[in-house]
Amino acid sequence: MISSFNVTSDSQKTEVGSYFISNYPPYSSWNDESLGDIKRSLQSPPSINTPLGLYLHIPFCRKRCKFCYFKVFTDVNASEVQSYVDALSNEISLVSKLPVVGNRTYRFVYFGGGTPSFLSPKQLTMLADRLRRDISWDSAEEVTFECEPGTLSETKVKTLRERLGVTRLSLGVENFSDRILEENGRAHLSKQVFDAWKWIHDASFENVNIDLISGMVGETWENWRENVRQALVLEPDSVTIYQMELPFNTVYSAGIIGNTIANPVADWTTKRAWVNYAFDELEKAGYAISSAYTMVKNPSKVNFSYRDNLWEGADLIATGIASFGHVNGIHYQNYADLKNYYAALENGTLPLARGLAPTRYQLLIRSMILMLKRGYLDSTFFEKKFGVSIFENWHHAWAQHIKMGDAEADGGTLRLTRQGLLKVDEILPSFFEPIYRGARYT
Ligand code: SF4
Repeated sequence: MISSFNVTSDSQKTEVGSYFISNYPPYSSWNDESLGDIKRSLQSPPSINTPLGLYLHIPFCRKRCKFCYFKVFTDVNASEVQSYVDALSNEISLVSKLPVVGNRTYRFVYFGGGTPSFLSPKQLTMLADRLRRDISWDSAEEVTFECEPGTLSETKVKTLRERLGVTRLSLGVENFSDRILEENGRAHLSKQVFDAWKWIHDASFENVNIDLISGMVGETWENWRENVRQALVLEPDSVTIYQMELPFNTVYSAGIIGNTIANPVADWTTKRAWVNYAFDELEKAGYAISSAYTMVKNPSKVNFSYRDNLWEGADLIATGIASFGHVNGIHYQNYADLKNYYAALENGTLPLARGLAPTRYQLLIRSMILMLKRGYLDSTFFEKKFGVSIFENWHHAWAQHIKMGDAEADGGTLRLTRQGLLKVDEILPSFFEPIYRGARYT
C-alpha cells in the first residue's frame, strides 16, 4: 500500500484531545471481538528470538494530578492495596504458565502506574516474595520502577534496590517550583525531591532518570530555566521531558470543555522552545540525545531496554488493571475496572478486556513510528523484518517532512532534525492509515 498524505502544520494551541502516541493502531479501535485472537496468541509458543518483557501496573496515587489521564485510585486504605497486590500476584502466577512465555527469561521488567512507590516497604517486600514464587527477573537487563518523590523513604529506596532488584529508578519530579506543582495538583513538593535524592544516590542504582514536563500550568521562561538548572545540579543519568498534552479525561480538559476555565496550557511553539532550551543546556553539560524526550549523561552506560525492545516489537506481558500488552503480534488490554479485574482472577482466568489483531502493515507502521521517536530510522531494519522500503512506501510524506526542515535523508538512514524531533508526535500521524488520521486516539 503506497501512502500519500499532505503534511499540514497543526494549530499551535494545545487543544483538548491532544495525545502522546505510544502504540498503533489507536486504542480507540481496540475491541472485545479480538478476545479469541488474544487467547490464541497467549496459548501459542513464542516466535523465535523475540525478547520478553513484563509490565506490572500499580494504579494508586496519593492525589490525582490535574493533567493525569491514567486509571488511578486515590484515598485507598491498606486492605484495598493488599487486595490488589494479592490479585496482581495471582495474575502473575497465571501468566507465568502461559505457552507464550515458554522458557524465556524476562529481558526487562517495568513497574508503572499510577504510583508504584505508593506501596509501603512491607507491601513491596510481600509483593516481591509472592512474585518470586512464580517468576524470576534476576537476569533481566533492566528493572524499572516509577517513583513519586513524596512517597519515598530511605527504607523504601533500599527495598527497591535490594528486594526488588530495581536497576532503573524513574523519579517524577515534573517541576521544581512548589507553586507550579501545587497548581497542577501534584502530591509532592520540591523538598521531597531533594530529600529522596540522597537516598537514591546512596542506593547506587545503575540508572536514575528524572521526568520533567514542559508546559505545566503556570510555567514561565524564568522558571523553566531554573528547572533545567536544578536538573543539572542533580546530575541524573537521564532526563526525560514530556510536553504537556490535554487528553480528554483530565481535570483541565473537563474544565475547558465545560467552559469553567480558559485553556491554561502554553502553545506548542512555547513548549517546544522550552524543550529545545533544555536539550541545549543538557548538551552543553555533556548529555546526549537519546530520543525525542530523553537526554542521557553517558550513552555507553545507560541503555533503555524497556523502551527499545518494545519499540522494536518485543513481547510484553501486561499485568494489573487497565495495562496494555503485546504478544505474538497481537495487542491486548486488561479490564480497566477493579470489579471485572478481580472477578476474572477469582475465577482463575486472565482479566482480558479488549485488543486488536493488527495486520502486518499495521505492525510495520507501529514499529516505524515508535522507532522514529529515537530520531532516526534505518531502512535496512524494516526491509529485513517486513520486506518494505519505508522511504519508498511513504515517499510523499518523507519528501514533505524533508521540505519542511523536519527530516534529512542520509543514505539508508533518515534523521529528524532538532525541529522535527521536538514535534515528533505531530509528525507521526502522517504515516497512519487514512482511517486513523484525525480519529480519536484513546
Ligand atoms: S502521579 Fe502520575 S499517575 Fe498519579 S495522578 Fe499524577 S500523573 Fe497520574
